[in-house]
Amino acid sequence: MLNIVIFGAPGSGKGTQSERIVAKYGINHISTGDVLRAEIKAGTELGVTAKGYIDQGQLLPDELIIDILANTLDSFKESKGVIFDGFPRTIAQAEALKKMLAERGQEVSIMLDLDVPEDELMTRLIKRGLESGRADDNEETIKKRLVVYHSQTAPLIEWYKNDGKYQHIHGSGTMEGIFAEIAEAIDKI
Ligand code: ADP
Repeated sequence: MLNIVIFGAPGSGKGTQSERIVAKYGINHISTGDVLRAEIKAGTELGVTAKGYIDQGQLLPDELIIDILANTLDSFKESKGVIFDGFPRTIAQAEALKKMLAERGQEVSIMLDLDVPEDELMTRLIKRGLESGRADDNEETIKKRLVVYHSQTAPLIEWYKNDGKYQHIHGSGTMEGIFAEIAEAIDKI
């Protein structure tokens, strides 16, 4: 089983690199952001709740997102592994993931930290907002998301270092170059 946590600030390229990882290694992909955007589009109760947090650049409550993740995980049959994209985003979520995988006789194989300079993140996200119309990709909300990233999510770097799973990845450069570094790290596991 290849269980990969792809980690990084908003705009670090988690989604783009996840697609490449899925294509090369044939594992399942969970993007909590994509799940929430689908719920919003479908107008579900969860979608309405999620929109409130996302528009403010805030994280959803841990219990809610952990439930969503457990349900998605259970929907995969005969899986070769999973790439977790946008989860965990807090220490409580990392602990829940560890427990969830342990209950299934599994563990995280590697945590890939896509490291991108802050000014580049801002440029990328503003461009994405203009192209995709994603409502949370506007300057004001991006700034809030970066604050949330530094205060609530970045502590996971130390957490995964202590867990022996941390791998730094240079997240700026060409998409191909970044993917080559990722594939090299995965092939070494
Ligand atoms: P990005 O990585 O660019 O911020 P995502 O698509 O991963 O974008 O997430 C968009 C938003 O969805 C987040 O800003 C947050 O509000 C919510 N969200 C996604 N994943 C989680 C999570 N694991 N815990 C709490 N909230 C989440």
